[in-house]
Amino acid sequence: MIDSGLRSHYREGKHVIYSENMSKMYGNKTVLDDIDLAVTSGEFITLVGPSGCGKSTLLRLLLGEETASSGTLLINGQEVQTPDPTRGIVYQRYGLFPHLTVLEHVLLGFRFQLSAYRYFLCRKELVEKAMQYLKRVRMDDHKDKYPSQLSGGQQQRVAIAQTLIMKPKVLMMDEPYGALDPFTREELQLFILELWEETKMTIFFITHDLEEAVYLGSGVIGLSQYYDDGRRNWKRGARIVTDLNLGREIKAPDVKATAEFGRTVRLLRTDCFTPNHLQHVNDFTMQHPDSFMSLSDEQKQR
Ligand code: ADP
Repeated sequence: MIDSGLRSHYREGKHVIYSENMSKMYGNKTVLDDIDLAVTSGEFITLVGPSGCGKSTLLRLLLGEETASSGTLLINGQEVQTPDPTRGIVYQRYGLFPHLTVLEHVLLGFRFQLSAYRYFLCRKELVEKAMQYLKRVRMDDHKDKYPSQLSGGQQQRVAIAQTLIMKPKVLMMDEPYGALDPFTREELQLFILELWEETKMTIFFITHDLEEAVYLGSGVIGLSQYYDDGRRNWKRGARIVTDLNLGREIKAPDVKATAEFGRTVRLLRTDCFTPNHLQHVNDFTMQHPDSFMSLSDEQKQR
């Protein structure tokens, strides 16, 4: 249930994604525990966390495929409704249909959105628009090919064009490069950074790869079930244990070889992935300007 009294840090027009004290339970199992998240418009947020900590659950909540068990969750200031094109999603497996060409995939959103009559009337205009997006993802020369004729990187670019053409306010990506070889992965990392700079959209990107998270993110969020809040049983819902502000300038790939970059990756690994590290809730690294913690006075005194 959304309680407007809780929106103590929300800023209209500033925060695209905003959650406060948000929890998600399945039966009596808490998966996400007290999630405070304030994502500013135009940020590229990367999300990391141990397997099973609830990253996909968080994404499903943001997409409106699931509802929070308690707390506040707002997208563009509105309570999250059922999925709609303002929140585009790109998955690890490209989700392309074997019987549709590249061009037909990019037109698919309009086929679902418009009546058959309207789609027929506007088709020429829509094809021109689709071709602009295919050019943007450098797939215009492959418009008549089927998925089986494309490499993994090319298929992922089609999936991105298919999502971008619907002009989402937030682009969500769930391990989008997880199935790609290292070279294609690096190429698509640069590609998404270029698109981000060009479109200024807000991106929320889940990855297992800590280097990828630090390289791409203007902000990196670490979600983890490994923390200490004074209770003995620490196998409970995940919380945000790290929230780094890395700035919005696009980094050159050779930054990955620097000592500073290595230090940030190690910090993330320790804070989020090391069960015996168990930082106390009061010691979470919260360096991002939009970070906030909402521990109750009772929790702080424990
Ligand atoms: P991650 O994406 O970080 O690997 P998930 O969000 O997929 O983690 O899952 C987090 C936890 O929630 C897991 O323990 C998983 O078993 C549980 N879970 C996810 N979806 C459901 C569901 N629909 N019903 C019950 N438990 C679920």
